[in-house]
Amino acid sequence: MARPKSTRRQRNGKQRRAMAQEGQEHLIALLNDPRGADERLLRSSANHLVRLSRRHRLTVPAKARHLFCRKCRTPHRFGVNARVRINGGQRIITCLECTNVRRFGGGPKAHRKNKSTI
Ligand SMILES: [Zn+2]
Repeated sequence: MARPKSTRRQRNGKQRRAMAQEGQEHLIALLNDPRGADERLLRSSANHLVRLSRRHRLTVPAKARHLFCRKCRTPHRFGVNARVRINGGQRIITCLECTNVRRFGGGPKAHRKNKSTI
């Protein structure tokens, strides 16, 4: 006997994504306040945030991009396991756990000042 369709929980794509976004906000709130939080909790939060975003085809919000390493997903604690340097108008974040480098800003390469020419 087939179950009537109405008893199945159905959500359209919009609702599903809205719920996923709520989850993102929750995880970002956790990552934003690392004091008092367990290292394992932070690591799994970063992991979940990336996985959740990929599963629902959402981008990781800009405000969360600097909170953890995109390669090894380790939460960044600047000065402890992450190095931040400004070079030629770019913010360069190096993860000291996996030595992954992320560069932010600066515009097109031709617009950047070359340090050696100054
Ligand atoms: Zn890393």
